[in-house]
Amino acid sequence: MEYKIAVISGDGIGPEIVGEAKRVLDRVGSVYGHTFRYEEVLMGGISIDTYGVPLTDEALETARRSDSVLLGAVGGNVGNSRWYDVAPNLRPEAGLLAIRKGLGLFANIRPAYLYDGLSQACPLKKEIIGEGFDMVIVRELTGGLYFGERRTEEINGVLQATDTLVYSETEIRRVAVKAFEIAMKRKKKVTSVDKANVLDSSRLWRKVVAEVAKDYPEVSLENMLVDNCAMQLVMNPGQFDVILTENMFGDILSDEASMITGSIGMLSSASLNEGKFGLYEPSHGSAPDIAGKDIANPIATILSAAMMLRFSFDLDKEAEEVENAVCTVLADQYRTADIMAKGMTCVGTKEMGRLICERIRRNG
Ligand code: NAD
Repeated sequence: MEYKIAVISGDGIGPEIVGEAKRVLDRVGSVYGHTFRYEEVLMGGISIDTYGVPLTDEALETARRSDSVLLGAVGGNVGNSRWYDVAPNLRPEAGLLAIRKGLGLFANIRPAYLYDGLSQACPLKKEIIGEGFDMVIVRELTGGLYFGERRTEEINGVLQATDTLVYSETEIRRVAVKAFEIAMKRKKKVTSVDKANVLDSSRLWRKVVAEVAKDYPEVSLENMLVDNCAMQLVMNPGQFDVILTENMFGDILSDEASMITGSIGMLSSASLNEGKFGLYEPSHGSAPDIAGKDIANPIATILSAAMMLRFSFDLDKEAEEVENAVCTVLADQYRTADIMAKGMTCVGTKEMGRLICERIRRNG
């Protein structure tokens, strides 16, 4: 098969880590007989420098015409870059919001997995970590509190601010379907997180999720209040498979889940639309402090490419092969500087990419 991928390298370490993810995709292509065609798209600071805006209509159109999008990261040094002191709609990060909106990406998927060799980076106690954890957070991305009506007004001389949390049945149903579909490819458990003891939007959430669950009899559904979920993540993270939640709860819980893995350079993510289309990117930023030094960890971007294989192209076997190659490289004691530990071999961005490619062979 041939797949067309829009590639947004972006700023900072973006081109270096995306380069290694492409190398891994090409290796998968040559081993499994697929062709990946790349079309470069400018976004973020580099687009501002070239076209004066963080995302052009043409760039968005190229992304829309592709089968999926691979993104590095955008942005410069916070507080100290030529893109910082400009109007919010002209900053590099505005490109991110525009592309997510323009492509109708409403479901954000973030795995949090504890690798055997990296458990020393996990801030939790050994007895809590137990056998480790392997969960995916499915967060609704385009509704809820961040997109509701908001205003600040003065009433009788006192300032008052209002934000509105709105969810329709349709918005809840489509993201719930994504979560159940993902659970079907994993351990078949969905934990739906809400605040149904207080919020009407959460009661509707719970009702719609229960309806969707009926179409997935093999998947077990549990409901959990968000405050309890925040506690459970640090008390017993191993209990979770797929966590499904609304926008703001997901924003907070996905960062909490990321932190307990202890390694920002390892965290992949995907943002999906109604169909098979998705944008795949590492959870970290453009790390301008280490850009151009061949020391950035490319694994988060490589694992994001693996998510692309699984979710957009239905190439589950190939995705697993990439994930296994990452595990093997770590088991073989290779580390980039950010995850380096005593007795390990420290390698650069390119070498890490090469070592992972080397371990991608059909049937292991
Ligand atoms: P960051 O994630 O870029 O960096 C935080 C720290 O982690 C830095 O010390 C960095 O060197 C390190 N780090 C990040 N990724 C790494 C990797 N792959 N390998 C090794 N070390 C890594 O966050 P920040 O410094 O707050 O932001 C830098 C820029 O990135 C800002 O302009 C910010 O707006 C932007 N940003 C972009 C995205 C995105 O494109 N999706 C996301 C977050 C931040």
